[in-house]
Amino acid sequence: MKITDIKCAIIASSPVIRITTDEGITGWSQIETPKPYLQPVVLQLKSWLVGQDPVNVERVMKRIRVRGGFKPWGAAVSAIEIALWDIAGKAAGLPIYRLLGGKVRDQVRTYRTLYHHEAGVGQTPDDYRKWAEYGMALEGGFGMFKLPTSFHSSMVRDFPDFHYGAVQHDAPFPYPHKGLISEDGFNHLVACVRAAKQTLGSKYGLAVDAGPGFLTHDALRFAKAVEDLHLLWIEDMIAGDYVPFVGAEEYRAVTPHTTTPIHTGEQIYLRQNYRALIETRAVDVIGPDPCDVGGIAELKWIAEYADLHGIAMAPHGTANGIFGLASLIQVCATLPDNLIAFEYPARFEPFWYDITEGFEGMPVKNGLIDVPDRPGLGVNLIPAEARKYLSEGDADFFD
Ligand SMILES: [Mg+2]
Repeated sequence: MKITDIKCAIIASSPVIRITTDEGITGWSQIETPKPYLQPVVLQLKSWLVGQDPVNVERVMKRIRVRGGFKPWGAAVSAIEIALWDIAGKAAGLPIYRLLGGKVRDQVRTYRTLYHHEAGVGQTPDDYRKWAEYGMALEGGFGMFKLPTSFHSSMVRDFPDFHYGAVQHDAPFPYPHKGLISEDGFNHLVACVRAAKQTLGSKYGLAVDAGPGFLTHDALRFAKAVEDLHLLWIEDMIAGDYVPFVGAEEYRAVTPHTTTPIHTGEQIYLRQNYRALIETRAVDVIGPDPCDVGGIAELKWIAEYADLHGIAMAPHGTANGIFGLASLIQVCATLPDNLIAFEYPARFEPFWYDITEGFEGMPVKNGLIDVPDRPGLGVNLIPAEARKYLSEGDADFFD
């Protein structure tokens, strides 16, 4: 089999990848929903792909892996890897998990990140109680939630003098605030997280996404202050989302000194960049994203290596879309028992279920998803339905 073309269309701001072959098999994948600017990054890889046999996934990946980088620059390479696995699975008539060694579980656990604006709440302890109540009432019966807070939320702007640093009121996202947290800001943060966890109770797991932005000693002080809450983890306090480095040495100054699990890794590209975190046990939990780390097999490799070192897995995926959801299900079905749960890609509109075949609506029940047995990823665009959502300039996507 040979790759004949690679196309990338923007559907509702999400770059969708289509790889075609001379045997009529199509591979699909998708880049995070808010990243239409990556469309040309995908297309510039075309000359490395056309003519290659897509079922030899690793052989193709050796040609393009050097052309990725830390988030968001690993997304194009990662999406191509996933589309190649989709083709390889379809060619074999098998779901991808069978090509990765088979599934070790029939259902995979997923956790839900809940955004303040989604729940219609602000940055007070009472808002955090409402946040928890909103989560517990959500469809899907999620038993684990992640709470964006501190530097990973508008708290840095909304709470007066949260930290000793310049506040960027006009930035589209809270990053890259960083600095010493004030005593009042610190106490407010702890009170908010405590309110959320006390509302959830012991039957629900709570993870906290708090950075990047902490100085190392503040990170340790925060982790110790919430030890009694039995959090699932605190994420990305020092380095993390969109930070183009790992920060393993700084994390080592925190993780061994607290019983609160410390998590990072969503921005990291490739196994090599996980080495220091894993080999020195700089964190307790890592969160590679299949759509940023280099793909499905890359994530599987990292998970096995992490398990050897007693490190847990909680893969990232909040904006990965419906194809990213399918990718997470396939790879998480194969991971060792260090898997906690993957982040549910909640940030896509319901119409995606109408323009694809594979999912019969939102697939989460009691926080779990059944692992499907359809070939490849198990999700395909329906051209007749999807065509009407194509952006201007992408009209030839299905030709
Ligand atoms: Mg995060």
